[in-house]
Amino acid sequence: MQFTDSHCHLDDIAFSEQLPALLSQCQQLAINRIIVPSISPDNFTQVLSLAKRYSGNLTGPLKDNPIKIYPCLGIHPWFLQKLNDSHLEQLNDAVIKARDKIIAIGEIGIDGAIAKNAAAHGQTPEDNLHHQQHFFDYQLNLAKQQDLPVIVHHRQSHDKIMPFLKRYQLERKGIIHGFSGSYQQAKGYIDLGFKLGVGSTITYSRAKKTINTLKRLPLESLVLETDAPSMPLSREVTAKDVLTSNQGTEQENIDEIASSPANSPANSPINLIKIFEVLSSIRPESLEEIANQLEHNIEQIFFI
Ligand SMILES: [Zn+2]
Repeated sequence: MQFTDSHCHLDDIAFSEQLPALLSQCQQLAINRIIVPSISPDNFTQVLSLAKRYSGNLTGPLKDNPIKIYPCLGIHPWFLQKLNDSHLEQLNDAVIKARDKIIAIGEIGIDGAIAKNAAAHGQTPEDNLHHQQHFFDYQLNLAKQQDLPVIVHHRQSHDKIMPFLKRYQLERKGIIHGFSGSYQQAKGYIDLGFKLGVGSTITYSRAKKTINTLKRLPLESLVLETDAPSMPLSREVTAKDVLTSNQGTEQENIDEIASSPANSPANSPINLIKIFEVLSSIRPESLEEIANQLEHNIEQIFFI
């Protein structure tokens, strides 16, 4: 079995010192590919150089079968406050320059919670949402022009994201990262050809709705991800907990995960195996069948 972490912020400062050791560990666990989205123009260079520095460049016993790190360029909805059209032009130029190295436009999206709390940044929710939509629209258009898939962030925003995806009908589709939501919401994305990123949310027993959704969806629509160093796993990550416990609400759970400090390595790409195990525990297929299909799904989106 081979694995791909379809979403990991490996360039985060939380990983800098331990990176070579961490990548060796990943390889020992057969996590052979890591996809690294960027978040703002501030980290474009870092993400691109990380991929260049480590891919195919490990020394020691692992050097013959090196882990592959794949960069993506995009501007995340959390980091738009001080950005304007000149930053979108910067993104456009960076994408054209690195077109043969990047495999997606991401991380992009719309975050409903950020819009609701816009007063903290002296903005109305409407203005904030409009600003987010402007960035999302531009980046979807860029993906279309460059024939690239997208990696989409959502939070309290399925209804806002869907009209854009329907309008653009991207040839290369993409991933709805860290999916949480209902079967109907999932189905809407799948009908457009998108895959859903399965992450730490399913390790929380309170995420009943998402767990039930992921049980019922076609395996062809799922990929694995950690979103490390954010989104830590539930402290008691066992299949039994996921299946039996029922406390709190799904939204409390997601907010709790999302508010974890991003600068301490609360999560790591090696947790991908635990997420895989939990997913396997709620699916009827065999481990091999699941692992093979998930890798095939990654190929379909990113490496055709
Ligand atoms: Zn992310």
